[in-house]
Amino acid sequence: MSQGTLVKRQFGHRARLALSPAGVRAADDQAHAARTMWNLLHAWWRMMPKEERTLANADAAIRQARKDIGFLAVLPAQAAQAVLKTYFRAWQNCWEGRADAPNFKGRFRTVMSVDIPQGRDLNITRVHRRWGMVNIPKVGRVRFRWTRDLPVGKRANAENRITGARLIKDALGWHIAFRVQTLQGRPEPHEGPDIGIDVGVTVPIALSDGETYEHGEWLTGKEKSRLLHLEQRAAQRQRHRRPGERTSRRLHRTYDQIAGLRAKAKRRALDWQHQTTTAIARTYGTVVVEALTITNMVKSAKGTVEEPGKNVAQKSGLNRSINGEAWGRTVTMLTYKTAQLGGTLVKVPAPGTSRRCSACGFTTPGSRESQAVFVCKNPDCGWSGNADHNAARNVLHLYRMGLALIPAAGRAVVRRAKRVKPAAAR
Ligand SMILES: [Zn+2]
Repeated sequence: MSQGTLVKRQFGHRARLALSPAGVRAADDQAHAARTMWNLLHAWWRMMPKEERTLANADAAIRQARKDIGFLAVLPAQAAQAVLKTYFRAWQNCWEGRADAPNFKGRFRTVMSVDIPQGRDLNITRVHRRWGMVNIPKVGRVRFRWTRDLPVGKRANAENRITGARLIKDALGWHIAFRVQTLQGRPEPHEGPDIGIDVGVTVPIALSDGETYEHGEWLTGKEKSRLLHLEQRAAQRQRHRRPGERTSRRLHRTYDQIAGLRAKAKRRALDWQHQTTTAIARTYGTVVVEALTITNMVKSAKGTVEEPGKNVAQKSGLNRSINGEAWGRTVTMLTYKTAQLGGTLVKVPAPGTSRRCSACGFTTPGSRESQAVFVCKNPDCGWSGNADHNAARNVLHLYRMGLALIPAAGRAVVRRAKRVKPAAAR
């Protein structure tokens, strides 16, 4: 095998951890200690004169803090180092215009997480078809759901290995996100056909060949009524709070239950997205999408004054929060999945794709009868059909006309525009 045919890939793999109640408490304590460490570091930074804000000084400061403050000792030394590294990287990101300046992390606003920077500490083994075991520093051996073949044991080598992990707690509990590094053969160019995709208004994803990908509701009727009940209860308790009163344990518990149901819906949506994008990347060689702007996305739900959107109520609330981030994620998934399978993803600037007739090519005002049906007003054509498929065919047409705006092929990296910062901001 020559190096030329192999490509290095780095990706994350997230698995659910089966922690005991004591394990959950230990992980919680570590995450709280990591957050406290961050806050101490930030306080130290703000207090220090500019020239003394060095990595070495910060390192000395956190070592001292670990000695002075008892509960910080629950955080493994490696994880404390990782906090330091992340904090300095946050400033770097800020100075390079990619992010806002780091700030204090509040207890309830922050995602609980602990870094395990060294892959060799993990000592991963597979113990069952569905279960693996991982070593978590200061917690012990923990089972996790084995849903993907990981390069561990005999299958691990210098190129294929797990380089580290991160513990993350969400509303469904503690998870572990492995950082996986592999060396894989470069895929053969995908011979499949070209396809245009439109974010449907009536269907989630419409393809130019007439295929649609749809999904049901993310929550069952029972789950939805429970969510509504919990939200009403939370609102009721909020109304009866006196100003300045602390949030009660019961209210926090209700918030957690609400977050749990929302996370469940989101996980189902994510699962559907993975299945859909994998199917598309397997079938088609070139995938063309519309280069959407945020304003377009808002419009697609609300509609315009002349052309109000349908089902606006259904597209608000929970659905909106999932749909809102869904398209960007669909494109991200398609970008790396097509690249992995030898295909390409192309973005085209697509104003008016929903108003142009894909049969005759005329953009005649009033052609879109409703959100669902397109009827061409050109007297020589008169074509009518599904409005979303029509838009998808227009997206493909724009690509074939050579209007590709951004060649996104094989590029899973999101490039952000650099903001110009005034020199005084440093
Ligand atoms: Zn027409």
